[in-house]
Amino acid sequence: MGGPSEGGMVMEGCLFCRIAAKELPTQIIAEDEDTLAFTDIRPQAPVHVLLIPKVHVDSLAEAGEKREMLGRLLDTARGLAAKLGLAEKGFRVVINTNDDGGQTVHHLHLHILGGRQMRWPPG
Ligand code: AMP
Ligand code: ZN
Repeated sequence: MGGPSEGGMVMEGCLFCRIAAKELPTQIIAEDEDTLAFTDIRPQAPVHVLLIPKVHVDSLAEAGEKREMLGRLLDTARGLAAKLGLAEKGFRVVINTNDDGGQTVHHLHLHILGGRQMRWPPG
């Protein structure tokens, strides 16, 4: 129901809206009606995939009314990690949120990182 090309769901000038609309080239890993997964342009691990909703949401902090979307994103991230062979050894899912959270692209996205030992705490 509804895609980013339908009115009101695209944020003008938003990088990830443009990626969702296939206006910018990316290495697409997976796609369904509501989400797109693609390789991060500056990978921080052997596997570094970004998962976005196709509709524009600024950040996790702005996603209060979007419980179903959030649930679906997390489940999709889980499925992708399994498909990418990360489930057994492990992986990390990160949602940087607003300035202190280190968010640089203000369209909600999940980082799925794997293929190496992650450290804690993150920087
Ligand atoms: P964040 O810092 O959590 O907002 O994450 C934004 C991520 O988007 C960073 O890891 C960037 O490397 C990544 N990124 C920025 N531009 C692109 C692009 N054109 N294609 C793929 N990933 C991108
Ligand atoms: Zn957007």
